[in-house]
Amino acid sequence: MKTLLEFQQIEERMQSLGDQARVEVLARSQSGNLSLPICKITFGSEYPSAPVIGFVGGVHGLERIGAQVCIALMNSVAELSLWDENLQKTLQKIRIFFIPTVNPIGIYQRTRCNPRGVDLMRNSPVEAENPARWVGGQRVSPRLPWYRGKLGAPMEVEAQALVDAVTKEIKDSSLAITLDIHSGFGMQDRLWFPYAKTVKPFPDLAMAFEFKKLMDRTYPHHFYKIEPQSQSYTTHGDLWDYIYDQHTTQNSSQKYLPLCLEMGSWLWVKKNPMQILTADGPFNPVKAHREQRILRRHNTLLEFLIRAISSPHAWVHGEGEKQQQSLQRAKELWYATTPS
Ligand SMILES: [Zn+2]
Repeated sequence: MKTLLEFQQIEERMQSLGDQARVEVLARSQSGNLSLPICKITFGSEYPSAPVIGFVGGVHGLERIGAQVCIALMNSVAELSLWDENLQKTLQKIRIFFIPTVNPIGIYQRTRCNPRGVDLMRNSPVEAENPARWVGGQRVSPRLPWYRGKLGAPMEVEAQALVDAVTKEIKDSSLAITLDIHSGFGMQDRLWFPYAKTVKPFPDLAMAFEFKKLMDRTYPHHFYKIEPQSQSYTTHGDLWDYIYDQHTTQNSSQKYLPLCLEMGSWLWVKKNPMQILTADGPFNPVKAHREQRILRRHNTLLEFLIRAISSPHAWVHGEGEKQQQSLQRAKELWYATTPS
């Protein structure tokens, strides 16, 4: 039976965990005789209102390193959950979930899109204002990149599985963060927050600013560039814009910060220019030592996210003067040249 290295890694890990984690098959991605599951692995509190942090990988199959980083972080949480009393205590009040292979056939076939040629990160019904040409999403043909799917068609099975699973996890949660891991853009690792659809600020901009401030203070030498995605390019159909808008319309008091980690793969290419000639080259570290480095590079981010979600009073403020000040400073930092 055809399978993925990533599933073998997940299965091996699950065997040692017993009831420390809950495993769920969200859906199956199909293409001809090929059928691969989309799995979710969850640790910690089952209270619907518990704070939640979710890690997602493999939305773009070709960016295999994203799935691998997601699994590496899951392995660390799995191991720590067996012996670290601090994390065990933390997991009684928070929930951590992982969906490492959203587009399993894309990973298997080394394609950005799903088996039907759809770019899942352009597939939601969200329409952008002034999207980037082509890269912002197109409906011309699945043979061309950034295909959104047919107008009016339901979302692809992989996109819908992700939307449903994340929505369910965060629906009643007091505070949620998700981190969707990608590669293929820029020389630096970026943490993007919404929107992708517009250059205008998203409603929780003050919270994004407080998150950045807390991270800058806690790890002043961190290497992430934290910014709105729209400063790089705007797109139609972003799944996180869609989940965020749906969530905040229905649950205005529950805070949610969707983040994308866009790993700066151009740096890997710069250090090893010949890799651009391979299919995986523009999106993945090809040399073994560099892959090892990338797989351990985000451990501090994992630790920070777990601590931030466990201690919301440090950075999540209700409406008030503090929030207004943060909003003002965020606009000066990120939106000085765009209309609000
Ligand atoms: Zn991507």
